[in-house]
Amino acid sequence: MTSYVYKFADGNKDLKDLLGGKGANLAEMTNLGLPVPPGFTITTEACKAYLAEGHEPESLAAEVTEHLAEVERTMGRRLGDAGDPLLLSVRSGAKFSMPGMMDTVLNIGLNDDTVRGLAAQSSDERFAMDSYRRLLQMFGATVMGVDAEEFHSKLDARKAAKGTTADTDLDVDDLTALVATYKQVIAEQTGREFPQDAREQLDLAVRAVFESWNGDRAVLYRRQERIPQDLGTAVNVQVMVFGNQGMTSGSGVGFTRDPASGERGVYGDYLQNAQGEDVVAGIRNTVSLHDLADLDKASYDELLGIMDKLERHYRDMCDIEFTIERGKLWMLQTRVGKRTAEAAFRIAVHMVDDGLISKDEAVLRVSGGQLAQLMFPRFDERAERSLLATGMNASPGAAVGKVVFDSDTAVEWADRGEDVILVRKETNPDDLKGMVVARGILTSRGGKTSHAAVVARGMGRTCVCGAEALDVDVKARQFRVRDGGIVHEGDLISIDGTTGEVFAGAVPVSSSLVVRHFEGEEVHEDLVDAVARVMAYADTIRRLHVRANADTPEDAARARRFGAQGIGLCRTEHMFLGERRELVEHLIVAEDEAAQEAALAALLPLQRQDFVEILEAMDGLPVTIRLIDPPLHEFLPDYTELSVKVAIEDVRGKHDKRQLRLLEAVKRLHEQNPMLGLRGVRLGIVIPGLFLMQARAILEAAAIRIKAGGDAWPEIMIPLVASKRELDLVRNEVLGVAQEVQEREGVSIPFRIGTMIELPRAAMTAGQIAESAEFFSFGTNDLTQMTWGFSRDDVEASFFTNYLDNNIFQVSPFESLDTEGVGALVRKAVIDGRATRPDLHLGVCGEHGGDPDSIHFFHDAGLDYVSCSPFRVPVARLEAARATLGGGYAAST
Ligand code: PEP
Ligand code: MG
Repeated sequence: MTSYVYKFADGNKDLKDLLGGKGANLAEMTNLGLPVPPGFTITTEACKAYLAEGHEPESLAAEVTEHLAEVERTMGRRLGDAGDPLLLSVRSGAKFSMPGMMDTVLNIGLNDDTVRGLAAQSSDERFAMDSYRRLLQMFGATVMGVDAEEFHSKLDARKAAKGTTADTDLDVDDLTALVATYKQVIAEQTGREFPQDAREQLDLAVRAVFESWNGDRAVLYRRQERIPQDLGTAVNVQVMVFGNQGMTSGSGVGFTRDPASGERGVYGDYLQNAQGEDVVAGIRNTVSLHDLADLDKASYDELLGIMDKLERHYRDMCDIEFTIERGKLWMLQTRVGKRTAEAAFRIAVHMVDDGLISKDEAVLRVSGGQLAQLMFPRFDERAERSLLATGMNASPGAAVGKVVFDSDTAVEWADRGEDVILVRKETNPDDLKGMVVARGILTSRGGKTSHAAVVARGMGRTCVCGAEALDVDVKARQFRVRDGGIVHEGDLISIDGTTGEVFAGAVPVSSSLVVRHFEGEEVHEDLVDAVARVMAYADTIRRLHVRANADTPEDAARARRFGAQGIGLCRTEHMFLGERRELVEHLIVAEDEAAQEAALAALLPLQRQDFVEILEAMDGLPVTIRLIDPPLHEFLPDYTELSVKVAIEDVRGKHDKRQLRLLEAVKRLHEQNPMLGLRGVRLGIVIPGLFLMQARAILEAAAIRIKAGGDAWPEIMIPLVASKRELDLVRNEVLGVAQEVQEREGVSIPFRIGTMIELPRAAMTAGQIAESAEFFSFGTNDLTQMTWGFSRDDVEASFFTNYLDNNIFQVSPFESLDTEGVGALVRKAVIDGRATRPDLHLGVCGEHGGDPDSIHFFHDAGLDYVSCSPFRVPVARLEAARATLGGGYAAST
């Protein structure tokens, strides 16, 4: 029979699928002999069964009873016992951490009778009442669905009546009154009484946690973080320990190293006389973990010992949650901690130096996404700026935007293309929508472990938190700074998540130090050194080569500085824009062969010079040049505009013959579906001169470079091929030109001719096509468009949101390769192509070449290289190494 419940001693850290991250790590800590309050975990399988069937699996209640009895025996107390009640916490815990996205209920087991028992046992009536009002508040909101604001406003009113802002100033009478008020709120809002039966409380809380898996904010968070929607959450039921039993008690959170910078040394927040939720919710301002040394030296020393043990055991930076109950330390959670991109790189190399991990592991501890974040711009150091306030540097980066005070406004303004900074007193999980669309997040309360900070770091969003000098007034849509200045909604501000500074207006941004390092500048900074070291490890590990998509000598040169090993796609169509557009027009409207040849002859030297420069920038490395691909009408004036112009001139009695011929041509070339029309290789067959002029320009450019002592490796690539015959027609002519150029110039050019695979038919007949191609480059943009039948220029803006909502895919297939469909075509073409030609060279040059997940797929599929935009080259180098090591895309954060 399936076990739906595991006691902590029966689990371990590797059972995250079944026990969730929190449950698996509680089990691990229990087995390490650390002080963990006893408890058990209800598995993700139970949650999945509940969500599928709409009710708990039949055996669950009996299993819970059995495990509860064991906990009761260990503790010598019983749930619901009026004399000496056992109290429980019920917490969610999925495989992947989803901070604050799902439910937690503390103090389960309190009711009108047991609260008296708790008061007597603890000799602390205030503490007992405070715990009861907390239960009513959490249970009322999360289990019974009462708007949490209802409770907050009653609590605030009580505090105001007392003339205080601290909940610790409320006495027994205040809390007793609050308990009565809260019960009334629950009854009024739900039409039901708060359940007095302790077991019923437990069962309802467990059910609420199951259901919170499908709550809006959890679904949104998972989509954002690309976490599968069908994993379910586990539920941890654990004996309560109390941080709110006076000043010798408290709760804290911590990290074994600084999660923002990655520097060595523990980091954390502690709050006296408080339960855990108070710390992360930023309700009162915390003290530094180090201050605990003065408050309770014994607990502090014990805690540091445990943190060291955990870091050595997990061989990674860990975060922890703990509670001290009247001087006794209890560990409530640990896991491998979330960290900023900057911290990830520093920690990885520090741990190599400390002998904790290998270089391979260091590469797996960072991700391409994190590297991309470090390449974001920073505020220009020399720019003038006016400081409004300084808060905590919770998540790095430089963000500029208009101030908004709530999530809905953030979404509305961002939708119309505005950059916004979400400003809140503190954030809660309902703010997630706004945090997703905002450039940055600024709060006036809470530390680096507050909700805002944790979520922002996870998303790579710039965040400054706890800027206490700001007085945020959401109702008045403004915040006041200490010197009396007021910033209104819509005003521009700039926040620096690396220093914690907040500036008025828009501060100009400059490129990152990491980019400057990649650009070849000597930058002496420990973060840059860490990145350089990890990149050096990555380059020795990876099998895939990385090339760049570059159409200009400048881009080619930059790509080379960023580590590109050649050009995988030089699109030539961009070379026919601007002044050269007219020459293309001449070619298209040419009345006879002589006129056509004259137009081509005018284009040839220009193209040749383009290629000389690019081959020079990539000297010694392969350069794949694609012959012209888009439909020719793209180079001609718009049909309607031109018709109107000609008609007006007609009325005026003017007849410009050239205009008329142009209009004719535009009409002739007009297509209903240009993406499926006369483009790519089809152009090369219908108007052969254009392709041959380009091929000649490439080969002559290579000859020039070789004769000048250069090392040119041109690869001529034919786009949009669907059949071997199409390729043959063009290839034979190009071979003729090649022979002629080589003979005439007296050089041997090491060129290759290959094709793009970007039509499903090409992939299906790759075995035949490979007879005539020395290389394939997968054009996954078109291959995705043609396989799904999605117009790549339209669908993302029109209906993809709906498709994402309906879980048809979790991420746009234009962004990350659809491995099942488009990927299957790629795999088939690789296998069939190599069967025909074992040394067939294989790469990808669609946008997916720079996408981390897709790079892992291309590695597995056996490609030789990926090609992506110059800025993605370092990211691709790193991900190619991680793919070689078999690491999944998501880094350990
Ligand atoms: C592709 O289709 O993937 C490709 C690289 O070509 P383009 O984007 O220019 O159509
Ligand atoms: Mg294409």
